[in-house]
Amino acid sequence: MNRKVLLKNTLLMIALLALGFVSVDSQTTYAATNRVYPTACKKTKAGFIKPSIISRWHEECRLPVVHMGTDIGIPKKTPLYAVCTGKVVSQKYGNNGGYQMTISCDDDQTSAFYAHMFERTSLKQGDKVLAGQKIGISGDTGTAKGIPHLHFGRMKKDTNGDLQYFNPEPELKEWKCKG
Ligand SMILES: [Zn+2]
Repeated sequence: MNRKVLLKNTLLMIALLALGFVSVDSQTTYAATNRVYPTACKKTKAGFIKPSIISRWHEECRLPVVHMGTDIGIPKKTPLYAVCTGKVVSQKYGNNGGYQMTISCDDDQTSAFYAHMFERTSLKQGDKVLAGQKIGISGDTGTAKGIPHLHFGRMKKDTNGDLQYFNPEPELKEWKCKG
C-alpha cells in the first residue's frame, strides 16, 4: 500500500469514527457461551469498528470517585445489547447512573452493568435475555448529562458471594460486535 492510499484509508477511518454509528440489526442467534459487544458498532466493508472508549477503569470521569467501569462514547439512542445470555437482575433510575440495568450471565456467575441509558428499559427484573438481544438505547441520563455514553461495568462473585467489579476493557477488546 503506497503512502497516498494509506493516507486516504486513514482519513476515511477518521471520518467514519466521527460520523457516529448506524444501527446494526440481524436475526443472528447466539449460544450461551458467546459474548456480544454491548453497543452497536459501525459497520464497514472491512468489518465492524467499535466506538471509542472515552474513560477507562479507575480513570476519573465527572465525579471524584473511583471509576468502576469503562465509558464507551456513543451518540444518544444507539442500540444496546445483552452481552450474554442470562437474566435481568435489576433495572432502575439512580442519580449517578441514570437509567441503569444489570444482567447476570447464566454461564459464569458474572454480571454486566449498563448506565446512562436514554430511558427506562421495557425489560423487568427476572426477564430472560439472549446474548445479542437489544435491551435498550444509550443516552446521557444521570451524571453523563451532555456527554452521551454507555458506562459499562462488569462484576463477578467473590468467595463470599459478593459481587466485585473488575475492569471490562480486556473483554471489550475481545468481544465481537453484533452482526
Ligand atoms: Zn463511567
